[in-house]
Amino acid sequence: MNDKPIYVTEPYLPPLDEFIPYLEQIWASKKLTNNGPMHQQLEAALRDYLGVPEIALFNNGTIALLTALQALRISGEVITTPFSFVATGHALLWNGITPVFVDIDPQTFNLDPRKIEAAITPRTTAIMPVHCYGNPCDVAAIQEIADTYNLKVIYDAAHAFGVEDKGGSILRHGDLSAISFHATKVFNTFEGGAIVCPDAKTKRHIDNLKNFGIVNETTVVASGINGKMSEINAAFGLLQLKHIDGAIRRRAEVDHLYRHRLKGVDGIQLPDFHRQVVSNYAYFPVRVGRGYGLSRDDLYERLRAQDIYARRYFYPLVSDHSVYRGGESLTPSSLSHARSAADEVICLPMSASLSEEQVEFICQIVRASRGEVSYG
Ligand SMILES: *Cc1c(COP(=O)(O)O)cnc(C)c1O
Repeated sequence: MNDKPIYVTEPYLPPLDEFIPYLEQIWASKKLTNNGPMHQQLEAALRDYLGVPEIALFNNGTIALLTALQALRISGEVITTPFSFVATGHALLWNGITPVFVDIDPQTFNLDPRKIEAAITPRTTAIMPVHCYGNPCDVAAIQEIADTYNLKVIYDAAHAFGVEDKGGSILRHGDLSAISFHATKVFNTFEGGAIVCPDAKTKRHIDNLKNFGIVNETTVVASGINGKMSEINAAFGLLQLKHIDGAIRRRAEVDHLYRHRLKGVDGIQLPDFHRQVVSNYAYFPVRVGRGYGLSRDDLYERLRAQDIYARRYFYPLVSDHSVYRGGESLTPSSLSHARSAADEVICLPMSASLSEEQVEFICQIVRASRGEVSYG
């Protein structure tokens, strides 16, 4: 049985005593923020670990997204996916940009490049796709459209820490990529995020924007924001980075176990991500089809009744929230694939701290609930 609740994600916390020396260094330096030594070390370490040209740390992934849009002076309309966390759309609205929602590819859950062109208007300035669940977008097709129509590409790469395709980090694609280091993500700094950028000049511009636009004591060149990561968050990132390979390996084992135990359950469709060469096992989304007998929501309730907090990522669609209706966004064509994903997908718990027994218990409920009559 289950003796404690199991949440969809659990943060990876290294042993507390390993964090104390970092705190001692911060106390000794009296540098608490503003590009201090921990911040500089974490930027260098992440650049190496991820294999990206430049990275600018942020206090969270949402401010990173907002700033990425500002840095490229994006305006007008931006084509994006409705099958995401609300921060994707919110970042556009906060910049006075109209989100244009386009349907997803039902296989990958990512923005369908074949549907993008029909949504382009003279006001379109950029495409903002999401590597949903850490599964890479069709970056080549998206770049080709962007080149043809002279559009920028900003990836919401919140889920994509450490993911690689044949050529290396998935974060190198597009003009900019924004990542999240929130507690629920694969790599966390409690709260945090970053923008991956192609060169030092772009990084300088972004670093300036995240520090109020301040150049020196008397010169402010832009209406920037406070997007800085503190030393304590950066220090935790440095410690987390020492453990991240082990944590991702453990996630891979959990993924493997789920696939083994859920194989062949009628109506349960397992994730089939194939574009990446290195995965981060960020989520374990399963699709609950007709053949299962119970609806996705019924399964969600069955799990909850056993203290298992799976999540319906992403339901409702971003475009269905009230703030997006009534002229705040555009949906030029049907979102039918996104809609059915929102109705059928459930993310089972996935984290490095899940035990084999816990995964076994979750799978037992999924298997045992199949075909039972619902009184919902
Ligand atoms: C987590 C997340 C964000 C926001 O990141 P925060 O660090 O929580 O601000 C943005 N987009 C997606 C798709 C996310 O999952």
